[in-house]
Amino acid sequence: MDDGHKITRRDMLGRSLLLGAVATVGTNLFLSACGGSAALDCSATAGLSAEDIATRTGNQYADASTDPAKKCSGCNFFTGAAAACGSCTVVKGTINPGGSCRLWVAKQA
Ligand code: SF4
Repeated sequence: MDDGHKITRRDMLGRSLLLGAVATVGTNLFLSACGGSAALDCSATAGLSAEDIATRTGNQYADASTDPAKKCSGCNFFTGAAAACGSCTVVKGTINPGGSCRLWVAKQA
């Protein structure tokens, strides 16, 4: 039975591209809501000593905070801008303003 709705290869390709774009936007919105940034990767540890890396991993530093109320940008130890990798006076290496670790302390006024 032909209802007049044939799906061509071109239709399928167009729909696949649209679904991919929707999935990418959705992932980016989810990461933003979680305090992380898909475009900002501050996880590189090149150049850090083994001790610095151990401090980073031992305190469970993550590039995206799981708690919107506890992001590095709101931590007393964070220095830097809100839209670029910053630094921390305790955890060495580049720090994502949307990240966090176990040492988070509210920024002092
Ligand atoms: S102490 Fe932890 S939460 Fe605070 S800025 Fe440094 S890495 Fe982020």
